[in-house]
Amino acid sequence: MGERENLVIIGSGPAGYTAAIYAARANLSPLLITGFQRGGIPGGQLMTTTHVENYPGFPDGVLGPDLMDLMKAQAERWGTQLLEADADVIDLAQRPFTIEADGQTIHTQSIIIATGASANRLGVPNEDRFWSNGISACAICDGATPQFRNEDLAVVGGGDSACEEAVYLTKYGSKVHLLVRSGHLRASAAMADRVEANPQITVHWNTEVIDVQGTDWMDGLRLRQRDTGKEELLPVRGMFYAIGHTPNTELFKDQLDCDQSGYLITQPGRPETSLEGVFAAGDVADAEWRQGITAAGSGCQAALAAERWLSHHDLATLVSRDAVEPQKAKPPETTDVTTEGTYDSSAQWQKGSYALRKLYHDAKKPLLVIYSSPSCGPCHVLKPQLKRVLSELDGQAQGIEIDIEADQEIAEQAGVNGTPTVQLFFNKSLQQQWRGVKQRSEFRGAIEALLKEH
Ligand code: NDP
Repeated sequence: MGERENLVIIGSGPAGYTAAIYAARANLSPLLITGFQRGGIPGGQLMTTTHVENYPGFPDGVLGPDLMDLMKAQAERWGTQLLEADADVIDLAQRPFTIEADGQTIHTQSIIIATGASANRLGVPNEDRFWSNGISACAICDGATPQFRNEDLAVVGGGDSACEEAVYLTKYGSKVHLLVRSGHLRASAAMADRVEANPQITVHWNTEVIDVQGTDWMDGLRLRQRDTGKEELLPVRGMFYAIGHTPNTELFKDQLDCDQSGYLITQPGRPETSLEGVFAAGDVADAEWRQGITAAGSGCQAALAAERWLSHHDLATLVSRDAVEPQKAKPPETTDVTTEGTYDSSAQWQKGSYALRKLYHDAKKPLLVIYSSPSCGPCHVLKPQLKRVLSELDGQAQGIEIDIEADQEIAEQAGVNGTPTVQLFFNKSLQQQWRGVKQRSEFRGAIEALLKEH
């Protein structure tokens, strides 16, 4: 990282990575702060979708997390510096601007804000009690969980996300109730057709959720018919929210002009915000189009505008390249399922139930197990972080990856009710469990504490 950056891009969705590709190719050596927990996971909303079928260039569709991997690799290949952390504080009151992230203070001449938007919740009275015990914000991540298989489930919302999730959940044998608050779907016609054609989906129009009920796990929803006021109980074992998003502008609220809903206000059709040198790209400034491709397009505009602004004010320090042609991008890492023949009792990272059973009994070291599912974007984000923790610990702990779709029985025995779930074992006993994406320091701290005790 330089003493003073030319350009810091905040956010790692299609807008952030596209801005990075353009700025890196302009020899600005941009720093991209990926975000980590604040405002959703790195890679943005495409990390929690399955097939993206409308992104040009992929005639048969592409998985959201795979598309984001490709964009990331392209941005890195051209010389983007990545900081895998949240931006905690941003001060735009003086120049150069300052950003606190990962315990460091970063100074920068210009900023592109591409922080996107976060999934909304309903806020019903028992929501917190049943969160992760039936309620989820991501069907694509949690749909494969044993508790939801062959059960009646509900999806709330009437947009493309709700329709996609409803269709996705039927894959696991479930009957799905799509709860729509109005009398029509907002989804695209192609998506609405799929819902209509699926006999496992029932659409409930003009319906709102009043509350959730159950004991340990949710077992029903209290619904109200908006036109008649009639209330009823719908017995379902899961509820998935797909009710839109709120822009992630908390850090800029009092520093830049925002509209009533919190979206950044830019010059019409342009990326400039209310402060010179600060640009916006993607959903953070777009309440209307909100597509991967429009976000990518606006990321390109923001980078070009930032480059022009920096050179107009003579603020850019261009980097020189070692070679005219950069190295080829790194291919994504994959792990094969461990078999009797490939099992290695001292390997740092293995995959599947065979390795888990063996290590659970034989390992003398702390054992970190991640339960993931093939389409789970957050799992995709977390796995390399866990691998990094293990390599930082230099062989003092080991890791196993379990695909809950392939190893359903193991997931059930382990009481896993969503992905990613991480469990830490030592001497055949469960020491700690985490749900969702957490900072590397949490896992590292827990393993180090165990090593210290024993
Ligand atoms: P949308 O904003 O399009 O839809 C949100 C839905 O949630 C609406 O039906 C809305 O109802 C409903 N809703 C909002 N608040 C509440 C509430 N409090 N209670 C009940 N219902 C509520 O969001 P999406 O996430 O579906 O889509 C966002 C963007 O991403 C869109 O542009 C979409 O096209 C795109 N997308 C594309 C996909 C694809 O092409 N494969 C997949 C997923 C998303 P109402 O209509 O009454 O306001």
